Amino acid sequence: MKRILTVILLALSCSACGVMGQINWDSPQMQQAAAAALTAASINDNQIALLSREAVAQMDAQNKLADEKYQQRLARLMNGINDVEGLKINYKVYQTNEVNAFACGDGSIRVYSALMDIMDDDELMAIIGHECGHVVHKDTKKAMKNAYLTYAARYALGSTGGTIGALSMSALGDIGQAFVSSQYSQKQEFAADDYGYKFSTEHGYSPYSMAKALEKLVQLAGGKQASSVQKMFSSHPDSAERAQRMRQKADAASKQKP
Ligand SMILES: [Zn+2]
Repeated sequence: MKRILTVILLALSCSACGVMGQINWDSPQMQQAAAAALTAASINDNQIALLSREAVAQMDAQNKLADEKYQQRLARLMNGINDVEGLKINYKVYQTNEVNAFACGDGSIRVYSALMDIMDDDELMAIIGHECGHVVHKDTKKAMKNAYLTYAARYALGSTGGTIGALSMSALGDIGQAFVSSQYSQKQEFAADDYGYKFSTEHGYSPYSMAKALEKLVQLAGGKQASSVQKMFSSHPDSAERAQRMRQKADAASKQKP
């Protein structure tokens, strides 16, 4: 019965997690990673890194890597960027029709080929920056901690481990759904957008990068690629408002310069 919490915590260990369904939750490594989190009343950075590493290792094993053309483009964009606020990063491109990207608490960044197909360099770097922002701001950590504490309180799980009582599968499903589909707050998204803006401009990309990326997602959500961007949207609400906010920020920055 600990499995559902494993699912919840792992799903929350990365910035965008539509792909987490592919993970084999019952592997010994995964159970070990979950056990480490389950025995702690508070989730620390090391536990998040452990859970993230395990989740990423499985996703890497299960996803087809995109061809060299994609890997080289990402490597060119990320050239010279070895860490984000001191967290050493690694990155790869997955070959998939889904429009998505995510960053994890262990410094892993994964970008989907379909996202690279629709985004220019500026937009792509802004989105990568946005996902890194969630990690930098510890949004993943807060979400995991809240999920753990809510779960523990609800089922009187001892703070040092304890046994979770037998629950019906439907009850477990409801809880899992509630946590996995829980979204970041608008405040957290705004902050991640600000980080994406900072990340892209600091690395020499356009101040309009973040605005353009969000505008493109809004546009796609209304078109024939709607289903492929749906997952990205479900974890990133209020895109139109966010796009407008980023465009105003870029306009203001441009006006300051002669
Ligand atoms: Zn976000």
